[in-house]
Amino acid sequence: MVNIELYKVRLDETKQELIKERYNNKEIEDEFIKQINELNEFFQIRLNEVPSVNFVYDRKTINHLIKTETRSHIIGWINGYIVYILELDNFETESSHKKYSKEQYLATIKHELVHIYFYQIVKCPFPTWLWEGTSVSLSGQYKPKIEKLFGFLEAHFGHVYGPEYTEAGFFVSALIKRFEKDKFLQMLNELSKINQDETENARNAFYDLFNKIYGFKLDYETANKLFRETKPFI
Ligand SMILES: [Zn+2]
Repeated sequence: MVNIELYKVRLDETKQELIKERYNNKEIEDEFIKQINELNEFFQIRLNEVPSVNFVYDRKTINHLIKTETRSHIIGWINGYIVYILELDNFETESSHKKYSKEQYLATIKHELVHIYFYQIVKCPFPTWLWEGTSVSLSGQYKPKIEKLFGFLEAHFGHVYGPEYTEAGFFVSALIKRFEKDKFLQMLNELSKINQDETENARNAFYDLFNKIYGFKLDYETANKLFRETKPFI
């Protein structure tokens, strides 16, 4: 049985110090353990460290932790084996999101947890659409439904703040649904050996790898064909 640790984190503004306290919430602990077990099974690995969740009080604390002024839609991220997420009760005042339902909130924690697995395997967060698409797909954030894929591949070495969330999850789901999961895991494992150093060569090396694993060239035409035929989670 994994022992999960949850914390609440808040910046003391006058001292510019973080106040971190243990937070006991059996429901979230149980759900987090369930998520870990599911992802161990999916990725066929164990994490090198037991992950924990830090619930962050407000935007000021987020900015202090990330050491930059963050966009107001940023509510979750990871650092090593720690998931950080804005406290649900403060969504309306501290972010541009409406308050999430409990299910959406737990899915967001899982989304971040998937990033931890991805990073342990791939050792980098690129291609960005695959990084986000894997998290969206495995955490079940399939909304809103879309008709067509037309922008996600542009998010390769960095975010474009849109289609890597709204489209890439459907594409990753389609890949996993149509082909054996092993191919997907093989792609992630081999991707870890390709230096994704933000160069054109590195981008091409990814496309070659994709072609080698799946047997077709990845572009919007082939992606849409797979998407139409597979209808992931519809
Ligand atoms: Zn993400």
